[in-house]
Amino acid sequence: MDKLVTGIHKFKNDIFTSQKTLFQRLAKGQTPLALFITCSDSRINPNLLTQTEPGDVFILRNAGNIVPPYGAVFGGEAATIEYAVSVLKVQDIIVCGHSHCGAMAALVDPAGLPESLPAVSHWLRFAETTRRIVMERYGEFSQEERVKKAIAENVLCQIESLHTHPAVAAAVSAERLKLHGWVYRFETGDVLNYDPSKGQFTSMGEELPKTGLRPAAKTLASRQVNASKPSV
Ligand SMILES: [Zn+2]
Repeated sequence: MDKLVTGIHKFKNDIFTSQKTLFQRLAKGQTPLALFITCSDSRINPNLLTQTEPGDVFILRNAGNIVPPYGAVFGGEAATIEYAVSVLKVQDIIVCGHSHCGAMAALVDPAGLPESLPAVSHWLRFAETTRRIVMERYGEFSQEERVKKAIAENVLCQIESLHTHPAVAAAVSAERLKLHGWVYRFETGDVLNYDPSKGQFTSMGEELPKTGLRPAAKTLASRQVNASKPSV
């Protein structure tokens, strides 16, 4: 805890003071560019990863970057998505999975979760589509390879789930909102972007399109994750 409290003092004395204009502007409201949906994993820092400032990215986090289908549960996810799209009018939604995701490892582990984690077990039911796809297509793979596949498949499944949210479906239909699937690799610093035309995740690296990010898959039919080699 000492580290956090020391950080608060450092923020107030150094960062806030040097960027006072920015924070005073943010006090009047926010106009974020994108909704960034990612895992709660402590190793992900969306602002650091995208080199953005406070106010640039509206962030939704939970275990496994999961988007429950609309109506399945009226929790924080649906409310955050609805507000971001309908009120803040973000232009992009990014679902960002990551390497070594514990939630995805638990999802595709045949031994299942211990009884001591009933909340986690219940939550992962919202990623059942991911689990079924992985076990159907990659059931013979090693656990390590299944996790890699699950991380990629889950990003695409959650993008599909986003389409069940009326605010998202309407905005996408009006072409004022684009959806993107990313996978962040801790060990290399790479961020992979799903390319529907190739049916694969490809490294963005220095090739970030100048005219905007490419939209991710909209339907199951448009999705083909390469089965012959790991996507992440
Ligand atoms: Zn994770």
